[in-house]
Amino acid sequence: MSPMFEYAPAPESRAVVDIAPSYGLFVDGEFREAAGGKSFKTVSPSTEEVLAEVAHAGAEDVDAAVAAARRAFASWSALPGAERAKYLFRIARIIQERSRELAVLETLDNGKPIRETRDADLPLVAAHFFYHAGWADKLAHAGYGPDPRPLGVAAQVIPWNFPLMMLAWKVAPALACGNTVVLKPAETTPLSALFFADVCRQAGLPKGVVNILTGDGSTGAALVAHEGVDKVAFTGSTAVGKQIARTVAGSAKKLTLELGGKGANIVFDDAPVDQAVEGIVNGIYFNQGQVCCAGSRLLVQESVQDELLEALRRRLSTLRVGDPLDKNTDVGAINSAEQLARITELADSGEAEGAERWSPACELPERGFWFAPTVFTNVTQAHRIAREEIFGPVLSVLSFRTPDEAVAKANNSQYGLSAGVWTEKGSRILAMAGRLRAGVVWANTFNKFDPTSPFGGYRESGFGREGGRHGLEAYLDV
Ligand code: NAD
Ligand code: MG
Repeated sequence: MSPMFEYAPAPESRAVVDIAPSYGLFVDGEFREAAGGKSFKTVSPSTEEVLAEVAHAGAEDVDAAVAAARRAFASWSALPGAERAKYLFRIARIIQERSRELAVLETLDNGKPIRETRDADLPLVAAHFFYHAGWADKLAHAGYGPDPRPLGVAAQVIPWNFPLMMLAWKVAPALACGNTVVLKPAETTPLSALFFADVCRQAGLPKGVVNILTGDGSTGAALVAHEGVDKVAFTGSTAVGKQIARTVAGSAKKLTLELGGKGANIVFDDAPVDQAVEGIVNGIYFNQGQVCCAGSRLLVQESVQDELLEALRRRLSTLRVGDPLDKNTDVGAINSAEQLARITELADSGEAEGAERWSPACELPERGFWFAPTVFTNVTQAHRIAREEIFGPVLSVLSFRTPDEAVAKANNSQYGLSAGVWTEKGSRILAMAGRLRAGVVWANTFNKFDPTSPFGGYRESGFGREGGRHGLEAYLDV
């Protein structure tokens, strides 16, 4: 018998970050109360502890922030690109220097494991600022004409699943191209955006170039509808995305939408099983499955299904679910009670519709919002769990016999954000990638992100690209 090892607790210190009891809005380079005096609380999803009280921006605050961004636009857009680049490089370096603090803060406010904020979110956030700093003085060579101009004031609304990373994906290209920004973080995860405001101050960014308005959907709606806005960028649910598209229709505002997904992770019989299992786990249990490009549908070739599922169950039994601040934790807390209720309802529908449910043995903490990693087999394409975005740690397994059937099933979705292909054959990878209707197709890997690589969707997953040369287009008048 092999020896059994126990993990000792390895908690990251939460003392590395100072959280104030309350925060104001960041407008025109300074923090201020909401004009209406309203505020709301943000909690730690793993404990339900209140972390801070945050100002709730109303229409008057939206006016003030957009006006500040408009004033700042004249001089910011007139700066030589090399000068704007200096600010972006400075922001990137400050993020690196403060990354431990920011990782702990993000883990507290969002519930995701420190291993992920430390090793994935924060390095990618810094990388996005470094990458776009490099573009700021080279826009004339980006393929958008000899002197591409910025759009003006960008209204940016982001979700709670990767709070600081979604901020970076939106703010870095906007600033590099010479726009100014009013950003609204999600109501359950406002803290890292407020810390970012402090990073902007530390970097000496001219006032009004970045403004942060905290609040809920009503704040977001007022911001995207504001007449002083030239560009709207949204990441979040398809329902809200459609609403925003209706609001913006008929105006001169430029729009990009990054919405939901139901990614297919396709495993062929010649794929290396252990690597594929790691990719499947990373595809759907990373960030508790709260990932728009999650590999939430596993399509496995029939002849290897039993072997693969056995290896997957064995691997899932080793996942550690619990305290997100513990460095050994693989799966943290679900972001909110509302999100937990959505996941629970959809998973229950899977059982009710006849799919077979399995989770590894794991003890969930009593307080906080938790959902055990879950696998459904005997799933048909008609089941809700095969069609709807669950946005939780729930995998739906379907099988296929031929490449044609894999393509047909993968593309049988209202979404088209991501897909994965696992096979030893390079020719098969290329053939599949050409036929899959997805903005990103990963080959023998999953959930790999890089600022140089454009990201975005087909169909109801939205339109426009973020990252890479393509992502610049969303912030230029082309
Ligand atoms: P949501 O779309 O309601 O919220 C996203 C952001 O939009 C938040 O900042 C929110 O305050 C803001 N918002 C809400 N209503 C708005 C409006 N009318 N106008 C402008 N802004 C508005 O998402 P949610 O309710 O937090 O999550 C619901 C579902 O959306 C999830 O279960 C998941 O399926 C999906 N989702 C997808 C992503 C993604 O990355 N694509 C992110 C979060 C959630
Ligand atoms: Mg929170």
